[in-house]
Amino acid sequence: MCPHCLARAMLHKHGSFKRIVYTLLKAYVLSIYRFKCCECGKATSFLPNFMKEHHQVAWEVKEEVIRQQLAGVSLVKIAENLVTSAG
Ligand SMILES: [Zn+2]
Repeated sequence: MCPHCLARAMLHKHGSFKRIVYTLLKAYVLSIYRFKCCECGKATSFLPNFMKEHHQVAWEVKEEVIRQQLAGVSLVKIAENLVTSAG
């Protein structure tokens, strides 16, 4: 179903793109598929449920960055820490 015009129209596959999701533990590369509605012609990207679940995990990363910043750790150092833990 098209989220723009709410038509239950056939959506044409309209290519895909890669999206990287970072979590505290690792980085995920996801393929996001784009579809084009044949009713209104607007393109839509469908995010897998997996991605929505990891939205929450991505928040953990922000919290960790803020926590370390408050502890006086420089942003460069925080980035290093995150990269290290992402390996
Ligand atoms: Zn539409």
